[in-house]
Amino acid sequence: MQQQPCCLNDLVNDLVEELEELALAAEVMLTSDIRVSGPLYVIGNSEQLYRLVSNLIANAIQYTRAGGQVTVTLTVNDNHAAIDIQDTGIGIAPEELHRIFDRFYRVNSDRSRTSGGSGLGLAIASAIVKAHRGSLQVQSKLGKGSTFTIRLPLGVSFYQRTDL
Ligand code: ATP
Ligand code: MG
Repeated sequence: MQQQPCCLNDLVNDLVEELEELALAAEVMLTSDIRVSGPLYVIGNSEQLYRLVSNLIANAIQYTRAGGQVTVTLTVNDNHAAIDIQDTGIGIAPEELHRIFDRFYRVNSDRSRTSGGSGLGLAIASAIVKAHRGSLQVQSKLGKGSTFTIRLPLGVSFYQRTDL
């Protein structure tokens, strides 16, 4: 896998801009919330990292009813970057939570049946996170919404170097 520094600020801003049209069509408000003071880099494959976050934002839009909101937040702690994709959508029942990352698995609700996806988006997202030694977690309440959290180890040497 090709490894290079990938700026997460750019990634979040680019994808929110790119998926704005999808959100508009779904009448969902899509916003980004960058809570870091400087550019934040991880080492990895940019194309895959874009695909990872794109899959999660697309899901958040797809599984949120008109009038809802999707917020993408970028934060940092000691050695990890975190991207939260939070929606006010249909949510996921507790008994489904461990299955949604399986290939081809789709929650058997009217909403996801009629939306016609293949059930691969989250399986691909999981594989990309794993390849980058990160983690992907979900918290959800049926009928209230979901938050998917991606954590990625930082390329420390690229992070907020003010001494250069
Ligand atoms: P595609 O391959 O086009 O992404 P998909 O969206 O159905 O199809 P996944 O992205 O893998 O497949 O998601 C699996 C299932 O998890 C979805 O069908 C849906 O039931 C559920 N799901 C995923 N994200 C959310 C979300 N943000 N809110 C509610 N349910 C979700
Ligand atoms: Mg999907």
